[in-house]
Amino acid sequence: MTERIGIIGGGIVGIALARALGARRAEVTVLEKETRLSQHQTGHNSGVVHAGLYYKPGSLKATLCAAGRVSIREFCEEKGLPHREVGKLVVAVDESELGALAEIERRSIENAVPDLARIDDVAALREIEPHVAGVAAVHSPHTAVVDYASITEAMAQDVRAAGGRVLLGHEVTGIRLENGTVRVTTPVSEDVFDRVIVCAGLQSDAVARLIGADPSPKILPFRGEYWELAPERTDLVRGMIYPVPDPRFPFLGVHFTRGVYDNVHVGPNAVPALAREGYKWLTISVKDTWESLRWPGAWPLAKEHWRMGVDEISGSLIKPLYFQKARRFVPELKMSDLAHKTGAGVRAQAWGSSGELLDDFAVDQVGPVTLLRNAPSPAATSSIAIADFVIEHYLTPSPR
Ligand SMILES: Cc1cc2nc3c(=O)[nH]c(=O)nc-3n(C[C@H](O)[C@H](O)[C@H](O)COP(=O)(O)OP(=O)(O)OC[C@H]3O[C@@H](n4cnc5c(N)ncnc54)[C@H](O)[C@@H]3O)c2cc1C
Repeated sequence: MTERIGIIGGGIVGIALARALGARRAEVTVLEKETRLSQHQTGHNSGVVHAGLYYKPGSLKATLCAAGRVSIREFCEEKGLPHREVGKLVVAVDESELGALAEIERRSIENAVPDLARIDDVAALREIEPHVAGVAAVHSPHTAVVDYASITEAMAQDVRAAGGRVLLGHEVTGIRLENGTVRVTTPVSEDVFDRVIVCAGLQSDAVARLIGADPSPKILPFRGEYWELAPERTDLVRGMIYPVPDPRFPFLGVHFTRGVYDNVHVGPNAVPALAREGYKWLTISVKDTWESLRWPGAWPLAKEHWRMGVDEISGSLIKPLYFQKARRFVPELKMSDLAHKTGAGVRAQAWGSSGELLDDFAVDQVGPVTLLRNAPSPAATSSIAIADFVIEHYLTPSPR
């Protein structure tokens, strides 16, 4: 008998899974609460196809990013979608960052990042990015940019073409295990599936609670805001100029990215969002904020990282502070070049109950329900590989 599989969440991970399962002849239904696909992380990100520089060798992030970036490129080629290898330069602006740069280089080599080059002289640096300042860098020429919302839409067309259903405006409010099957309810529908996969991003812990799964890891929303470079100044950046990251928090620091449509954005930062889907400071959910504050990990987390939090929040609220950080990488940058803030995204970052950041992708299984508990960056890059991984390890041949 054909398996009936329900997928909760119409972001790139849920849709990539639906497409892969549809190709394996399952009867697939995607339930998405919004009236369009990609309304959350998938439609509000940097659009980078990561090459795998930062991730701990051997981790799911490292292995699935390596496989996923190739699959994304092939998918874009097949569908005629834009995919541009603009390249990424990770720049040490002064000598104090050389040790951390060497660690990134080591990880990149272990992760087999293709054609990675170490650059130690300023002239060579400037050949790649003529306006950059720094003492050394690593260059990843195949780091690319794409439009993840278009990719998701094209994957959804494949789902429909294979006979699958993609139901928008279907917010899952109930999941019940019943004699080995799963009954899923929304305000407008009720379905029974043989298996369900939850890919609910910012809501993944809330949906997990519907079936009584462990409330941990907890999702805390962190907004990433972008500045758009004035169109007449986009020639300051050819591809991507990135800082040497703290590998524990690779999303911190000022990033310059030339997008697939030739706009250049600067960001994202990382500030606590006051609602799970809080794209502006003034979007506040008392429920979400209260839940975050009374979660046991909140205080250890705040105690350990308050300095970083103050730094990110002040950079968000006071433009000159953010500008000063950006200008370290591109000294010709003027404050007016940061033309306006544009399309923020909110990251679903998972944390353990003692306030520790959960770094790697994480999957849980409760009977016939598979839950993606942590799918932060580079999950868009890795989406097709994540789908294959989940099918191989959690759906074949029977639920664990
Ligand atoms: C600022 C920012 C920059 C990033 N940059 C990059 C990058 O450059 N490269 C990269 O690879 N990754 C990047 N990422 C990460 C990447 O965007 C995410 O890892 C990826 O989009 C996760 O996809 P998803 O499908 O798991 O989640 P989402 O896209 O968030 O989708 C989850 C879906 O579930 C739906 N949902 C939730 N609850 C319910 C419910 N009860 N019923 C029905 N539907 C529900 C939501 O509406 C949503 O559409 C970035 C993320 C952010 C926020």
